Amino acid sequence: MALIEHQDLSNFNTLAIQAEARFYWAIQSFEDLQAALDWYRSENANMPLLVLGGGSNVILSDHFPGLVLHMQNQGITLLEELSDSETVYLDVDAGENWHELVCHCCEQGWYGLENLALIPGAAGAAPIQNIGAYGVELCDVMDSLECLEIDSGKHYRLSAEQCQFAYRDSIFKQAGEPRRIISRIRLRLRRGAQVNTRYPGLQQSLQDLGVHPEQANPKDILQAVCNLRRVKLPDPAELPNVGSFFKNPIVSEAHYQQLKAEYADLVAYPHGDDYKLAAGWLIDQAGWKGHREEQVAVHERQALVLVNYNKGSAKEVLMLAKKIQDDIWQRYHVALEIEPRHILASGELAQD
Ligand SMILES: Cc1cc2nc3c(=O)[nH]c(=O)nc-3n(C[C@H](O)[C@H](O)[C@H](O)COP(=O)(O)OP(=O)(O)OC[C@H]3O[C@@H](n4cnc5c(N)ncnc54)[C@H](O)[C@@H]3O)c2cc1C
Repeated sequence: MALIEHQDLSNFNTLAIQAEARFYWAIQSFEDLQAALDWYRSENANMPLLVLGGGSNVILSDHFPGLVLHMQNQGITLLEELSDSETVYLDVDAGENWHELVCHCCEQGWYGLENLALIPGAAGAAPIQNIGAYGVELCDVMDSLECLEIDSGKHYRLSAEQCQFAYRDSIFKQAGEPRRIISRIRLRLRRGAQVNTRYPGLQQSLQDLGVHPEQANPKDILQAVCNLRRVKLPDPAELPNVGSFFKNPIVSEAHYQQLKAEYADLVAYPHGDDYKLAAGWLIDQAGWKGHREEQVAVHERQALVLVNYNKGSAKEVLMLAKKIQDDIWQRYHVALEIEPRHILASGELAQD
């Protein structure tokens, strides 16, 4: 039994919120997960429960009165019976570090994850918001996953289609769905190199490496993505943050045209029939870059990232976020949605 009482979580969330959990269980195997859930149901199944991976996409409450399950189960299995000369299927346990997985696959010659390099966190959390970067999303390489329902204990597989992936979204974020823990994900990768260099900044980063984008191989992409990210984003180990704090808002074509007429250099991309606006551009234009309030601030180089200089609380971070949201609404009539999951003391997710 690995139950710990009164566990400090400040090192387990990249925003460095000084949170504490009443109960904490480090999950190193599927058996641990079942044992922890048995304990949870026998103790009090109404107690708040939080599943934690790398803590890089959560805003924790200062005190969490329930049970935290910290996913640390590891294992990467090549599925020979499903794989062939072109395609590789892999089962990856939820606690595997995402970036280490990306590097491992690239070294093995299993391609498709390179554009998603250096995203912090664990593999089991990747489906929650369908992680994406530099023109690739998890759903492009995801086959299916295994999950366990917290309340019923049912253990089953969901196909990528059943996960209902969309931009920074999946079935796991939808209200009314059963509470599920992802224990393992199954990826479908390629043995042959087929690179995606469509993202303009990536092409420049490849050129900076002396590589022509049309001749880039997956290892070049991985290197170029890492270089880009290190320049653009603060390292949470040095300056606590959760990456992009707001989603890029999606607006109708009419709304986009209206904004474009007013702001000629507006940054936006077609998104189906709509347009996806660069939230960082809106926040930067509104003058928030570098703005600091007590211990929390908008990063000085990247307006989309809020940083925690010295033990700022969740409340401080959210107050700054609210001011930014209100200002962006007043200026552009655009609603900014918070990207990380805001975990209330009740264990529920806040609808920010
Ligand atoms: C510097 C930085 C850069 C980032 N860049 C990107 C980026 O480019 N693209 C992008 O998409 N994201 C990005 N992120 C956000 C974040 O890294 C990803 O969302 C990542 O997948 C979160 O993983 P995690 O293990 O840290 O999740 P956590 O923060 O631990 O959890 C996030 C949510 O998932 C739930 N969860 C975690 N594990 C499981 C599980 N096994 N089963 C069920 N639920 C689970 C948690 O309860 C919580 O609701 C960035 C973050 C940082 C700090």
